[in-house]
Amino acid sequence: MLNLVLFGPPGAGKGTQSQKLIDHYQLVHISTGDLFRAHIKSQTSLGQQVSKLIADGELVPDSITIAMLEEEVDKNKEAKGFIFDGFPRTVPQAEELDKFLAGKGAKINGVIALDVDQEELTRRIAERHKISGRPDDDAEKLKKRISEYFNKTVHVLPYYESQGKLAKVNGIGEIEIIFNDLCTVIDQY
Ligand code: AMP
Repeated sequence: MLNLVLFGPPGAGKGTQSQKLIDHYQLVHISTGDLFRAHIKSQTSLGQQVSKLIADGELVPDSITIAMLEEEVDKNKEAKGFIFDGFPRTVPQAEELDKFLAGKGAKINGVIALDVDQEELTRRIAERHKISGRPDDDAEKLKKRISEYFNKTVHVLPYYESQGKLAKVNGIGEIEIIFNDLCTVIDQY
């Protein structure tokens, strides 16, 4: 199995690059943000539970997020591997993911952080907001999401760095060039 975490702040290009990577490596893409949005759209009880938190740009509690993620992995028993996008976002999520995969005789092979500066992130999300209509892409909510990233999520990086699993790739520039840089890293796993 090849299990990857694509890491980066909102607007880093995780979704765009994940789409290209799943085609290339035949992996299953799991985006916890997409899963939450699907629950909200279908008005499931999980969706109702998390919609305000997400609209406000706050992280959903670990217990809820982990349960949803594990259920999604278990739905894909034939998968050759996964790209986790937007998960883990806290150290307890990262620890639980390691335990969960170890229980299946699997592991995270590598974590790739897309490196994009804050000015570029703000510019990209303002553009995306015009098209996506995501309420959490508005300027005020985005500030909260970026602060959640720097307060909680960024600590996931040293967790993986200490395991020797972290690679950084420049996330600014042409999509194809960034994709090629990602493939160069992944081909070494
Ligand atoms: P994203 O599409 O990855 O930017 O996620 C959108 C929103 O979903 C985030 O701002 C959080 O409110 C929630 N979310 C997604 N993934 C997680 C996670 N791993 N832990 C907690 N909340 C999450």
